This record gives sequence, structure tokens and C-alpha cells, in this order.
Amino acid sequence: MTKIALLTSGGDAPGMNAAIRAIVHSCQHHQYECIGFFHGYNGLLNDEWQALTHADVGNILQFGGTILKSARCPAMCDPKGPKQAANTLRKHQIDALIVIGGDGSFRGLEALKAHWEGQVIGLPGTIDNDLAGSDNTIGFATAVTTATHAIDKIRDTANAFERVFIVEVMGRHSGHIAFNVGLATGAEAILSFENCDPADTAPQLARLISQIQVQQQHNHDSFVIVLAENLWPGGPQALKAQLAEQAGIDSAVCVLGHIQRGGSPAPEDRLLATELGLEAVNAVSRNQDRIMIGKQGSTLQAVPLNGAINDAKPVNGRWVAAHEDVLTEYLIKHSE
Ligand code: ADP
Repeated sequence: MTKIALLTSGGDAPGMNAAIRAIVHSCQHHQYECIGFFHGYNGLLNDEWQALTHADVGNILQFGGTILKSARCPAMCDPKGPKQAANTLRKHQIDALIVIGGDGSFRGLEALKAHWEGQVIGLPGTIDNDLAGSDNTIGFATAVTTATHAIDKIRDTANAFERVFIVEVMGRHSGHIAFNVGLATGAEAILSFENCDPADTAPQLARLISQIQVQQQHNHDSFVIVLAENLWPGGPQALKAQLAEQAGIDSAVCVLGHIQRGGSPAPEDRLLATELGLEAVNAVSRNQDRIMIGKQGSTLQAVPLNGAINDAKPVNGRWVAAHEDVLTEYLIKHSE
């Protein structure tokens, strides 16, 4: 009987449970055995696992997190780690390993492949949406929804106090969350890798100061800056200090942080995770190997793992331009 192993690795993302459920159901449909390893790749190194059947995945689809737990496993970056992981897979006579995670987790699969003859399949599970080969990753829609609702709340208090707010959102090194959330909340400024060079922030700072000053001269609304994490040298507190030192602008900082990773998955994530999970098991039955299952438009597709990791996945250029256009229009309107 074909035997599939499954694990969730790296940053958890809402919808991972829905993907686990779909994989387990599909395994039963194909009459494959399915086992889940716990705590990311640590489960393979420590031989920590359990068999998974329908009964284990009932009533989990609506919850964030992952029933298999997730973790970083630095030992996988040492040559001994993947070898040991391969031995565990061999010991259990596993035919295929499905990993739900981000690009780091997929690098782990590539490393494992050097020591193991079985099939490896990745499912894109990360709120950052930074994997090529799938329009959206599992968890992204929920993170955008959560951050949007949070900033709507911040806007209320910012309006009441006519305040400048710097809100840091997640995204690792890409601006998918920053631009989606910034546009969805009508942020006056979005600072992300796509429109700001971290090595030379002076032009963006000057522009930001002039935007805030123009706005403060003409009305007394709030001004929300959505800032991508890891962008601004010194982080949001450094930006706050620079606004104060260079232009006497007072601002408040809110780092949304891990609330973006949690919560009940949005329907889009539940559906995407379900489709991708079912297709991952179909890919095993087709003997596919070293692939990630993604969805582009309405088409499910298998893309090479190394492409998913290494190819660029730029933020929709129309959205970056839309933000610039809105800002330009705003500045012209207010400086007349
Ligand atoms: P994500 O999968 O969300 O990008 P990480 O980058 O933290 O998260 O990677 C998750 C895990 O994948 C790491 O803890 C490690 O076990 C494994 N991994 C990451 N990079 C490599 C690599 N270059 N070689 C082998 N394993 C890796």
C-alpha cells in the first residue's frame, strides 16, 4: 500500500489544518496510508509521528495553527539532518512526503531529496505570499483580512486624536501584505520593498514628511503609514524618531505582529487549502516528484520546487502604481 507522510514546517499559516484534512481524506479515497510527523522536520529527526485517519481531522478546518504543530529545525541545514530524516522515512517505508510550508521548508525538501528516493511535494503555506507558481499562498487571505480589520480599528483612534500612525505588517521580505492591506485600508502611505530602497530611505522620508505636512495644513485627519517589516533600518521606532527629529511630527507605532498568523482561516484559504491538498495526493498517484502544487487563475498546477523557491513573485504592479497615483493626486489636490 502506498504510504504518504505529511508535516507542517516554518511559519504557521491559517488554512494549514484545512490542507491536512484534505490530504487525509484524499489518502483514504485513494486507499493510501497517511502518517503525520510533528513539529516540522524535527518530527522526522526525532521519529515523532501518528497515523492520520478521518477521525483525526474532523472539526479542524475552521481553526488556525496546525494540529501537527510547526517549528524551525536548524539541524536540517547541517548535512547530517537530511540524512537522518531520510533514514526515518525509509524506516517507515514512506513513498511520498508532503510538506506544507514556505520557501525554507521547500529548501529542506530539496536537501532531503539528495538522500532519499521517495517523492517530495510542497504545498504553499505561508502568510507572506512570496512563493512563485501560485497566485496566493495558504494563509495570505486570512492575514490580509486580519490586518485590514486591525488597521480599521487603529483608524478610529487615529481619527479621534488626529494622529499619525505607523503600522508595521508582516511579509518577511516582500510587500504582498503591505500593499494589499495598505490599499484595502486607504493608508495614506505604504512603505515596502517595491517602492522604497532600505539602503537609501532619505528620499522616502522627505516625501513622507512633505505628505504629512501638506495633509496637516489642509485638514486634521489621521495619517496611516503601512510599513513592511524588515524594511526600515531600525524598524518603525527609528522611523518615528526620524519624523520627530527632522520635522517635529509626532506619531504612534503599532506592530501588528503575530495576530496576522493566527485566527480562523478565511473561506478563501479553506478552499485553496482543500483544493491544493486534494491535488497533492493526486500528484503522488501520478508519480510526480520535486514539485509544488499551486493555483494560477482557476488552474491547479504543479511547478518545480526550485522554481517556487527561486523565481520572483512580484507584487501586482498595478497595485503599486495605483497607490502612487492616489498619492500623487492627493498631493496635487492639497497643494493647490
Ligand atoms: P518557511 O518554510 O516558512 O520559509 P523557514 O525559512 O524558517 O520557514 O524554514 C523552515 C525550516 O525548513 C527550517 O527550520 C529548516 O528545518 C528547513 N530549511 C530551511 N532552509 C533550509 C536549507 N537551506 N536546507 C535545509 N533545510 C532548510
